[in-house]
Amino acid sequence: MADDSLESISSEVISCLKCRLCEKRRNAVPGEGLWSAKVMFVGEAPGEQEDTLGRPFVGAAGKLLTELLQSIGLQRKEVFITNTVKCRPPNNRPPRKDELAACGDYLDRQLKLIHPRAVCPMGNSAIRALLNVTESVSELHGVPLEKDEITYFPMYHPAAALYTFALRKVMEEDFKQLKKYSNSHNISGL
Ligand code: URA
Ligand code: SF4
Repeated sequence: MADDSLESISSEVISCLKCRLCEKRRNAVPGEGLWSAKVMFVGEAPGEQEDTLGRPFVGAAGKLLTELLQSIGLQRKEVFITNTVKCRPPNNRPPRKDELAACGDYLDRQLKLIHPRAVCPMGNSAIRALLNVTESVSELHGVPLEKDEITYFPMYHPAAALYTFALRKVMEEDFKQLKKYSNSHNISGL
């Protein structure tokens, strides 16, 4: 779509009825951030707070994500933040295959339009949805991986670090690696 835009994706998402997740959502959560972001973060799915406000990562996990960004000198508004599916699954269950397939086109279009220098899938759902791998986050985190001319930088999901405190340090290290990668590849603004 030559004339695609982030705004048109957002308005399609807000009224989307393509999968069963539309039935129980209060608000769809298209994602937010800079159209020219150098780095894009992809979580699993909106949670309760996100569903209430229509914005990604605004609960406890979002607070940690914001802090991790700040730890490498980035503000939320300088990156783009979204999820593999745009509507909250009931009781925060993981998104199902058919839901990921139905929603994947929105994420692909966001990726194409933003064309970031690095994409950080956070947690196993996002890693598997974007990278089509069977390895888990514990094997892949913190190391850049090329696929279809995009550099992926798998990360733990910040919610995991809320439950397992030791993972917070691991995430801080992975964010430092992301910063190091951007410095060595001349990615300004990251
Ligand atoms: N967890 C996610 O995966 N995404 C959000 O937007 C919030 C919490
Ligand atoms: Fe549409 Fe995605 Fe929401 Fe399903 S999860 S209804 S495909 S926006």
